[in-house]
Amino acid sequence: MLPPPRAAESRRRGGLGSPGPLRFPYDEGVPPVISRRAPLTELHCHLGGAVAPAIMWGIAHSQGIKLPTKDYWEFRELITVSARHGRSFDGYLQLFHWTELIQSSPLAVERSVYEVVGGAYRKNNVTTCELRFNPMKRNRGGEQDLDHIISAAIRGMDRAMLEYPITPGLIFCLDRAFPYALNEIIAEKAIAYHGRGVVGIDIAGPESPTFRPRDYRRLFDRCRRRGLGVTVHAGEAGPVEEIAEVIEQLEPSRIGHGVKAAYDPRTMAMIRERDIVLEICPTSNLNTRVVSGWDEFRWIFDTFRRNAVRFTINTDGPEMLKTYIRDELTSLGRLGILSPEEQAQSAEWARQASFVEGVSDVPLPKRRPPGRSQLEREEA
Ligand SMILES: [Zn+2]
Repeated sequence: MLPPPRAAESRRRGGLGSPGPLRFPYDEGVPPVISRRAPLTELHCHLGGAVAPAIMWGIAHSQGIKLPTKDYWEFRELITVSARHGRSFDGYLQLFHWTELIQSSPLAVERSVYEVVGGAYRKNNVTTCELRFNPMKRNRGGEQDLDHIISAAIRGMDRAMLEYPITPGLIFCLDRAFPYALNEIIAEKAIAYHGRGVVGIDIAGPESPTFRPRDYRRLFDRCRRRGLGVTVHAGEAGPVEEIAEVIEQLEPSRIGHGVKAAYDPRTMAMIRERDIVLEICPTSNLNTRVVSGWDEFRWIFDTFRRNAVRFTINTDGPEMLKTYIRDELTSLGRLGILSPEEQAQSAEWARQASFVEGVSDVPLPKRRPPGRSQLEREEA
């Protein structure tokens, strides 16, 4: 493990509190952030939160979907976090209502996946984007054929792979609020499409009184035996005890979020002993108020360091949360929460923990990609 940054150094690098405007040059003359030349792996990204609003707007119109507004800017506000929307866990989940509806056709899913994995490379030099979604939330309650939705997602990924040196993968999300029988179908589809680009399974969705991790033990064993990676959302909005239960029953190699584990030494020990990797999404947790601020994150990362727990940095949904993976790293670097070396370490952990095979085979870009503002001008 890398040593924690010294307190004085932390203060010099940006102080406490919420991130203000970036200051260049930095005290040391070197930005405290990982180079744009370094390729990144993003492990935790939901399709419903990852497509740019303008593209969603176009997809909605091309399919004749009746939207609640005819004004683009109002629509943009409807599907992204703002002071009005998404400032709670349930409020955040509600943002997915429209994005999932708009993505509910083979054409919409193909375009969405294609845009996300290609865009992640162009904008952030993400060479491995693991994109997760629930295919059953995109077939209009069974109106559309699930295999067509899944095949379309794979096509979108294949098209992006023809254009860019990337190795993306798809993760299917089961849902806490779904009955077991529906979740079982999603898991069986993940097994059926493993080898064609589906690399893992997850359980997401709202907290549900009917959800019991032990009900899924056998199903998850079966998925693991068939070569799928297992990650589970836990320790986000739910109680900390949930994390230990999920680890014992479902044996994930990664946990989505898991920030609450920092508050329980026993859970920290379990995560370390089983070499589980945490998928941390800082801005998402701040928006849903799961974490109170960057100061709390400073403490959480300190705790991970002390307990030798491996973590990765992710967005959860870059367009919905208006933050890219490099924005997350920049905030953590500028606030002195993660040094550039620790950012590089987290990127390496993400690469190692990826469910996609052959991630290290991707050639490194020969040139340093342009900055985000330049790219956004080009793509506007
Ligand atoms: Zn998530």
